[in-house]
Amino acid sequence: MASRLERAEEKYRGLAAKLATVGFISPGSLVSRMTLCGKPGCHCQADPPHRHGPYFQWSRAVSGRTVSRRLSEEEAALYREWIDNRRQVEAILAEMYDVSATAGDILLDRVKAAPRHKRR
Ligand SMILES: [Zn+2]
Repeated sequence: MASRLERAEEKYRGLAAKLATVGFISPGSLVSRMTLCGKPGCHCQADPPHRHGPYFQWSRAVSGRTVSRRLSEEEAALYREWIDNRRQVEAILAEMYDVSATAGDILLDRVKAAPRHKRR
């Protein structure tokens, strides 16, 4: 039977292997907006309104400031995938931290249980 540490190591290796399969990643988030222009007689003012868009905006933090960029539909599709990938990476990484903490507890218990070296 595998020890708790062996199980933790196996789980950790599994997570690392999963991490290796994730594609490119992007920081930030993506929003799509449908807008009203305010021009009288425009279809966006009709009843029911037919808004303009969707317009895609990618926002990310750069040195503590939020920087936004307008994206085309093609770019938005790419960034959406990369942002999803990043969230996967973050979820896997969070699990790796958990497994590492478990392994750390096991290893530290071993150190405590081991006989101490005599002082000279
Ligand atoms: Zn309009």
